[in-house]
Amino acid sequence: MSGVRPFPRKTTAAIAAVGIFGLCAARKASLRNETFAESPKPCGGPRGLERRGGPGGRMGFHTMRLESSIQVNDNTKRLRFQLPDPASNAGLSLTSFILTFHKPRDAWFPVIRPYTPINDSDEPGYIELLVKKYPNGRASGYLHSLQPGDTLNIRGPMPSYKWKANEFEHVNLIAGGAGITPMYQLIQGMLNNPDDRSKIKLIFGVNTEKDLVMKKELDAFEQKFPDRLKVVYRVSDPVEGSQFAKGRVTKELLEKELLGPKDSKTTKVFLCGPPAMEAAIFGNKGWISSQKGALGELGYAADRIHKF
Ligand SMILES: Cc1cc2nc3c(=O)[nH]c(=O)nc-3n(C[C@H](O)[C@H](O)[C@H](O)COP(=O)(O)OP(=O)(O)OC[C@H]3O[C@@H](n4cnc5c(N)ncnc54)[C@H](O)[C@@H]3O)c2cc1C
Repeated sequence: MSGVRPFPRKTTAAIAAVGIFGLCAARKASLRNETFAESPKPCGGPRGLERRGGPGGRMGFHTMRLESSIQVNDNTKRLRFQLPDPASNAGLSLTSFILTFHKPRDAWFPVIRPYTPINDSDEPGYIELLVKKYPNGRASGYLHSLQPGDTLNIRGPMPSYKWKANEFEHVNLIAGGAGITPMYQLIQGMLNNPDDRSKIKLIFGVNTEKDLVMKKELDAFEQKFPDRLKVVYRVSDPVEGSQFAKGRVTKELLEKELLGPKDSKTTKVFLCGPPAMEAAIFGNKGWISSQKGALGELGYAADRIHKF
C-alpha cells in the first residue's frame, strides 16, 4: 500500500454522513458556478473502460498521497496522486470525475468539489488533476496548498455522461479555460481506443495564451491523429503578434467550425466552460425569462448538446 491509507473509521463515518449530500453539493456548486452541470449517471465506455472500482480497485472513499505538484501557469497546477495499488488503475470510465473532500478548521462541514482526472485511465498507479485556483476558492486554494507527501480525501470515480464509442460520427467539444479537463479526458479516451472512429473538433477558448493548458498534449494528439482531431484556439486577450486568432467563441465561429449536420443524431456537442461562456453558447433558463444560446440559434436541439 504505497503512500495511501484508508480513511480512519471516524472520518469515514463523518464523510459517509455528508456523502449523500456530496453529490448534491457538487451539483449545487456546479449549478451555482454554472460551470460543469450534469448529474452523475451510470456510465459505460469503450475498450473495457466501463470497469468499476475506484482508486485501488474500489469505488468509494479513498485517501491518496500527493506525489508531485507542478505549476502550469500563474493560476493552474497539475497534481499527481498515488493510487493505493501501484499496479492498478483508477477505474475511470469515459467520462468521469472524482469528489475531493477537505474540512477547513473553522467550518462545520467539509468542502466537496468535483474534479476531472486528466491521466490516461489505462496507466496504472496514479491519478492526475489539473486544478485552476480561483480567488478565495476554498477547494482550489486547498488543493494548491498541498505539498508532495500530503494526503487528499476523495470519493470516486463518479460516472458522468454515458459515453459509447462510435455513437456519433461527429463529436464537437467546446471548452473554456479549466473546462478543458473533461474534454481532454474524452479526447484521450477516444483516440487511444483503436475501435473508435468518430471525428473530433475541439474549440478551445481562453483569456490569454498562458491559459492554453494541455496544448502540448493536444498538439501531440493532433499530429498523431490528423484525420480524427482538429483543434481551433481562440484567445480573447492575446499578446501582440500572437499566433492565435483573437476573439471569443462566438456564434459565427461555431457556425463555421462545428462538424456534422446539426439536426442529425450522428452529431453531438459537448460544452464546458465558465458561466458567462456557457450562458452565451447554451443559453440559460431564468425564473422570469430564458435566454437562447448561440447553439440554439444555430439550430442545435438541446438533446444534441451535453454540458459537463
Ligand atoms: C463535474 C465537474 C468537474 C470539474 N473538473 C474540474 C477540473 O478538472 N479542474 C478544475 O480546476 N475545476 C474543475 N471543476 C470545478 C471545481 O469543481 C470547482 O468548482 C472549482 O475548483 C472552484 O471551487 P473552489 O472551492 O475553489 O471555489 P469556491 O470557493 O466555490 O468559489 C470561490 C470564488 O471563485 C469563483 N468561481 C468558482 N468556480 C468558478 C468558475 N468555474 N469560473 C469562474 N469563477 C469561479 C466563485 O464564484 C467564487 O467567487 C469541475 C466541476 C465539475 C462540476
